[in-house]
Amino acid sequence: MIILTGMAGLVAGAFSMALGEFASVHTQNDAVAAEVAVERDEIRRHPRAEQAELAEMYEGMGLSRPTAEAVAREVHADPEPAVKVHITQELGVDPDEQPPPWTAAASSFLCFAVGGIIPLVPYLFGSSALALGLLVGAVGLFVAGALTSRFTARPWWFSGLRQLLFGAIAAGATYVVGMLIGVSMTG
Ligand SMILES: [Zn+2]
Repeated sequence: MIILTGMAGLVAGAFSMALGEFASVHTQNDAVAAEVAVERDEIRRHPRAEQAELAEMYEGMGLSRPTAEAVAREVHADPEPAVKVHITQELGVDPDEQPPPWTAAASSFLCFAVGGIIPLVPYLFGSSALALGLLVGAVGLFVAGALTSRFTARPWWFSGLRQLLFGAIAAGATYVVGMLIGVSMTG
């Protein structure tokens, strides 16, 4: 029963995460594309104002007035590269380097599926002890959190414990909801 509900939750969760991620990245890319169109139009209609805006941004970054104006003039010599520079400066993203939604969806699916199978491992090997499932799930959460510290400035034990805490809150909330609607998770 636990393997069946666990697997059902795993598949449903993985699809839900993947579709959510797909929609989120797709919407983000659409928003960037819309901004590119707006900026291209602005540069076509008000090239001088946009060039002055860029010179001001460079001045704000610490360049001297003559250098900032010279750089902005050179960038605006060709409208297409100018659009890209404006978008990169104003939105902080490179319009040509947006993540493909399918890759984001597939990695979300995979990560959720791998994370979801870990607490089920003892059950798959024939154990029926809730404590063992919780322990394996807790170790999985801690290791996943600790691994993220490779990409952040946080110490590994802090990231591990934080992930464990978040997982415990999520699992606890699921357990309480299950109790409230009269489904015993241990049965
Ligand atoms: Zn602009």
